[in-house]
Amino acid sequence: MKKIAVFPGDGIGKEVIREAVEVLKIIDKKYGLSLEFEEALVGGSAYYEYKTPLPESSLKLAKESDAVLLGAVGGPKWDGLDYSVRPERALLGLRSELGLFANLRPAVVYSSLVNASTLKKGIVEGVDIMVVRELTGDVYFGKPRGIEKLPDGNERGINTMVYTTHEIERIARVAFDVARKRGKKLTSVDKANVLECTELWRKVVTKVHKNYPDVELNHMYVDNCSMQLIRYPKQFDVIVTTNLFGDILSDEAAMLTGSIGMLPSASLGSRLSSSGSPIGMYEPIHGSAPDIAEKDIANPIATILSASMMLKYSLNSEKASSDIDNAVLNILNKGYRTKDIHEDGKKLVGTKEMGRLIREAIEK
Ligand code: NAD
Repeated sequence: MKKIAVFPGDGIGKEVIREAVEVLKIIDKKYGLSLEFEEALVGGSAYYEYKTPLPESSLKLAKESDAVLLGAVGGPKWDGLDYSVRPERALLGLRSELGLFANLRPAVVYSSLVNASTLKKGIVEGVDIMVVRELTGDVYFGKPRGIEKLPDGNERGINTMVYTTHEIERIARVAFDVARKRGKKLTSVDKANVLECTELWRKVVTKVHKNYPDVELNHMYVDNCSMQLIRYPKQFDVIVTTNLFGDILSDEAAMLTGSIGMLPSASLGSRLSSSGSPIGMYEPIHGSAPDIAEKDIANPIATILSASMMLKYSLNSEKASSDIDNAVLNILNKGYRTKDIHEDGKKLVGTKEMGRLIREAIEK
């Protein structure tokens, strides 16, 4: 039995998670995986009930599970809340409590969706990048932090960029391992020319590289990487970078594909489940999209592909994972599109219908 904690969250999170769980149920039946799903509240929905975005009961469930499948959290209803109880704090809490230090974000341009990108077809066609972002260090967690009053009446905002050798080593190893299974090319992104913290980053990544002679490593400054992603994205295979740079670069890489509704993510840590696989959290990269919530127009593919990554990385079921990926490809090739990726001549479908079509393709 493999236990999956299901956190729909807020906004479209609830709609897209429903479709992904239904897909997993079909997969479970087909491959006999004995999946068990347990749902709980996180984000704004949890705040309504518990006055905290990450209730103890939800955290306990996450810790007892083999994997977590999450929709999205947040929305304007909660924007006025103190930062400590904002819905987004649930994500930071889950990441740090589960020790999820590696965030894997693939950005794949599907040939059938090449026109969805704002960039020219020749630039994006064939793009297949994996961004590996460090997730538990950097300015998001470094201390000191805060806003302090100065004697002259001014205020001072402080965040601290911190990385230890250990933190850099473990994320570098994940990135080299991922690169080894793909195109064997890793780009490490830093700002070593001005930030000592990333000078250390570069030194440690270079040292870890000695254990991966089959993988080609190059280093790039973050400003240049941001430019190169737009100029010639096909030069990249795997990118590894810090939490802050990764936050920005992975969104930029996502937009090469044209739709935020297509992109999954996996967050992995060093804790292993009873089956020996890393316990991970899987979620689409998009937010709760309050502007389109409850309208049956959200694209569920990012969440369905997140479920596929879950099968691959945490549930040891590569075959079932490819089955989902192929079903998605199949449905796109047949011309079905949700509104965000729709173009003339294609068949417009809603969230539920897209989910149903993908399940039907898996069952065939
Ligand atoms: P968003 O990703 O929710 O939406 C950005 C745009 O993309 C919107 O126009 C939205 O309609 C569209 N979009 C997003 N997902 C889509 C999908 N699956 N199908 C079709 N269109 C889709 O980002 P935002 O508007 O900046 O944030 C909304 C809320 O979500 C905020 O409260 C924010 O803090 C939160 N947020 C949460 C997460 C998360 O849970 N991981 C990530 C980002 C933002």
